[in-house]
Amino acid sequence: MFEGLSDRLSGILSGLTRRGALTEADVAAALREVRRALLEADVALEVVRGFTEKVREQAVGAVVLKSVTPGQMVVKIVNDQLVAMLGTEAEVIDLNAPSPVAILMVGLQGSGKTTTTAKIARRLTGRDKRRVLLASLDTRRPAAMEQLAILGRQVGVETLPIVAGQTAVQIARRAMEAARLGGFDVVMLDTAGRITLDEGLMQEAADVKAATRPHEVLLVADALTGQDAVNTARAFDERLGVTGIVLTRMDGDARGGAALSMRAVTGRPIKLVGTGEKVDALEEFHPARVANRILG
Ligand code: GDP
Repeated sequence: MFEGLSDRLSGILSGLTRRGALTEADVAAALREVRRALLEADVALEVVRGFTEKVREQAVGAVVLKSVTPGQMVVKIVNDQLVAMLGTEAEVIDLNAPSPVAILMVGLQGSGKTTTTAKIARRLTGRDKRRVLLASLDTRRPAAMEQLAILGRQVGVETLPIVAGQTAVQIARRAMEAARLGGFDVVMLDTAGRITLDEGLMQEAADVKAATRPHEVLLVADALTGQDAVNTARAFDERLGVTGIVLTRMDGDARGGAALSMRAVTGRPIKLVGTGEKVDALEEFHPARVANRILG
């Protein structure tokens, strides 16, 4: 029943041996360890507080099942709550709209946005048999435009030809028009990233959104950003109305705290996970696996 649950927590909590209902003192002791595990996993402090409060409410007075120890009971409540907060259902990219469907890709520079754009395009053309057109809107960084073109060729997906001197909105409009004329199902718009959050970036993305009415606004975020992930996700969501999050670099050491933080703060689902530099390194998000990783 508890296979795969955090050994560390189970070990620590095995000290709770009395039977019957969980007392406030039992739960408080257990929650100190849970809090530590969450902070070590880089979950934002405000999210840790909310989470432990929810667990406390559920755990105090809970009757311990015969088959388990009280410690295991707390771990089960923690784990269930974590999975519930991370999102219990696998989310998919929603293409249920008249063609061409626009997908706006947003995120900070270096988050993996351009790579993820190509990964998703590959998935949509291969698995889902859609015709996809890619367009880079990064007018200030010709290298970024070129990178998308190279990745597009690599995954066998067409990229909108680059026309010098156009604004992001002009390029986005041209992409939609080209997709309409060319019979494409999906247009993926790779917006410009910046190293830090800035107003120019947000305004430009908001203008593109207004011009293209995307069906999905996907925030690409680096799992290694830890505590900063909250600010990033909140800022993008408030300004652009994110519809889903793609968490990159889950192949690295990240414990996944960023996933919980971003999900808790925005309420937006984590739709996909990047697990490497290669274009096929894209996976569905599995809440239970990430919950386990967070609990370490
Ligand atoms: P952008 O500036 O947000 O467009 O970021 P890029 O797409 O250029 O990615 C920045 C770097 O991160 C590149 O070297 C990518 O290969 C790498 N990258 C992107 N996604 C992942 C991932 O899921 N795992 C790993 N390990 N590297 C990734």
